[in-house]
Amino acid sequence: MNFSILPKIELHCHLDGSVRPETIIDIAKKEGTSLPSFDKEEIKRELIAPLDCESLDEYLKRFSIPNLVMQSNENLKRITFELFEDAAEENVKYMEVRFAPLLHTRKGLSVEEIIQSVIDGMKEAEDQFDIKGNIILSCMRTMSVESAFEVVEKGKTFLGKGVVAIDLCASEEEGFCGKFVEPISLARQYGYRVTIHAGETGIGKNVLEAVELLGAERIGHGVFIKDCVEAYNIVKEKQIVLEMCPTSNVQTKAVQQFSAHPIYDFHRDGIKVTVNTDNRTVSDTTMAEECHIVCNEFAMNVKEYKQIYLNSVEASFADLKTKEKLKKYL
Ligand SMILES: [Zn+2]
Repeated sequence: MNFSILPKIELHCHLDGSVRPETIIDIAKKEGTSLPSFDKEEIKRELIAPLDCESLDEYLKRFSIPNLVMQSNENLKRITFELFEDAAEENVKYMEVRFAPLLHTRKGLSVEEIIQSVIDGMKEAEDQFDIKGNIILSCMRTMSVESAFEVVEKGKTFLGKGVVAIDLCASEEEGFCGKFVEPISLARQYGYRVTIHAGETGIGKNVLEAVELLGAERIGHGVFIKDCVEAYNIVKEKQIVLEMCPTSNVQTKAVQQFSAHPIYDFHRDGIKVTVNTDNRTVSDTTMAEECHIVCNEFAMNVKEYKQIYLNSVEASFADLKTKEKLKKYL
């Protein structure tokens, strides 16, 4: 299967992990921001997490450089536009991009300005390329509960205008869900859809709690339901969709190698899985590459790939009209 040509859907992609290295250099030069290097290959080495990275926390260190250049309306718009352009170029037909607005306030932008800039970049790309998108607002679970309320409250004006969902991300601790019950419940009342990073680093029970306490409809990663029967069963029974990111999962040591990834076992057992990049730059990958890895590693056929594509369409937070259109690409 030639995955550069096949239509693809991406549901799990972080804006700050997917900035073009040359854009980081370009903006830093213009703004006089200091970087460890202005050489493209050297900056790539700083940005890309190696496959033998030690942990999720080690992986997350790679995000400090891109965030240096994501502090103005113009830059946020440009970076979002370029991400959609890169995705459209490899035949991604629909992409949900997520980002944490509170990481972009360092030079005085308001949360509303930040969200609007990202939406503007997405809309401009939608006008120019054959791709549609939506935005997911991430709350950092390393920040306070108040900060999650702030994102939920300020983001709600953008629901129906490009923003569709709320997410919790960053370093994963056992039992984090309990802390965020109130802001996520408020988000649901406002009409946000809910996807939560959980079960990425060894704690399957977090997936159970994300579904039971936070009403998660989708789970970012969910690799470790493999070690937690209750989490596994609830995901299967409620048809909670897993947004899996194979390369990222090897880098963060959720799995030791691709062959140990549970995605295919889950799929065969009737769990709804999807394939995603997580971070195009930090994981040095593309959707075509991730689909290739999965299908190659587990000898999947076209029919199985189509099932995963359809899982992604159904699980997307797109409107019905968009979903119908996406199904026709197959
Ligand atoms: Zn993620």
